[in-house]
Amino acid sequence: MSDEKKTSLESIGEFKLIDELTKDFKTHHSSTIYGVGDDAAVIQRDENTVSLVATDALLEGIHFNLMYTPLMHLGYKAVMVNLSDIYAMNGTAEQITVTIAASSRFPKEALEELYKGIKKACDIYEVDLIGGDTTSSVSGLMISVTAIGTAKKEDVVYRNTAKENELIVVTGDLGAAYMGLQILEREKSVYKANPNIQPDLDGYDYLLERQLKPEARKDVVKFLKELDVKPTSMIDVSDGLASELFHLCKQSNVGAQIYDEKLPIDTAVSTTAIDFEISPTTCVLNGGEDYELLFSIKQEDFDKIKGNPHMTVIGHFTAKDSGLYLIDKQGAAIELKAQGWNHFNEGKNA
Ligand code: ADP
Ligand code: MG
Repeated sequence: MSDEKKTSLESIGEFKLIDELTKDFKTHHSSTIYGVGDDAAVIQRDENTVSLVATDALLEGIHFNLMYTPLMHLGYKAVMVNLSDIYAMNGTAEQITVTIAASSRFPKEALEELYKGIKKACDIYEVDLIGGDTTSSVSGLMISVTAIGTAKKEDVVYRNTAKENELIVVTGDLGAAYMGLQILEREKSVYKANPNIQPDLDGYDYLLERQLKPEARKDVVKFLKELDVKPTSMIDVSDGLASELFHLCKQSNVGAQIYDEKLPIDTAVSTTAIDFEISPTTCVLNGGEDYELLFSIKQEDFDKIKGNPHMTVIGHFTAKDSGLYLIDKQGAAIELKAQGWNHFNEGKNA
């Protein structure tokens, strides 16, 4: 590196950084169907089949805090985060590799706990652990998982194929993992101030489970096949609805309108958000770690998903020039900005 002006990572942001670091790479193999830029890379396997590959790392102090994250849950979550990216391509996850870096603070028993969670995820989601790497770290714990999946080539759903007028659908409900994190952080502060006070986690089961033990939506990929619906675009919700919608719009060259009153929010999220003086809508838009799927469907497929308890239509795609808007409960249009977590200055989510 020369003495020329340096750009801080905070100022450039994660997505622009990835773009700039990878823009000069050429593709050497025709088997590389799609590289950087979607939830998983797509590689030709045989004439009609592709492999899907996704990697995500979780770092202590950035993505998790061991004061309130049980190691078994952490292992489980690290797998979920990656399987979610395979499902977001409309694929089936088959294998994982796991890399860990641990400081001398961690005994063998701690890593065994972590692996209990990884095993549980492998058993429930039917994926095979096929390798990885183990190394030491100067401080803290890091766990990086690579998930490998498969799909029929014609079934793969990308982020860049949404069209104007298509319906925007989200699975499950949003904002709960973020509220779970707020509860855990609050109890951590109380404990730090007075270690004799027991944490008060009663009544927050759903929020805590969503934060500590998320489930990737393998079931939704199956439901969509059963309903004979192929989404026209798809992404998983890891960084908050606004950020994910922004990716779909940018990559598909469309705008979007979503409706506040349609956003799926569990009552535990709304009541707790109000206690914390946060708007429930803000939790949904900017929270993250929901690991639900956000996708679009053609209008003519609406009847196939209508009334489905797992899927909610929250809006539609518009022309690019129309921008990205939330219509609030009074009917006012509020422009959305991608405010998902920026790892370099906020730190928290994967
Ligand atoms: P997701 O949130 O779905 O896990 P990311 O935002 O982590 O996706 O990554 C977006 C895209 O950028 C993916 O295609 C990912 O493989 C790629 N990517 C992320 N970091 C790097 C990197 N350091 N080098 C090359 N590609 C990267
Ligand atoms: Mg993703």
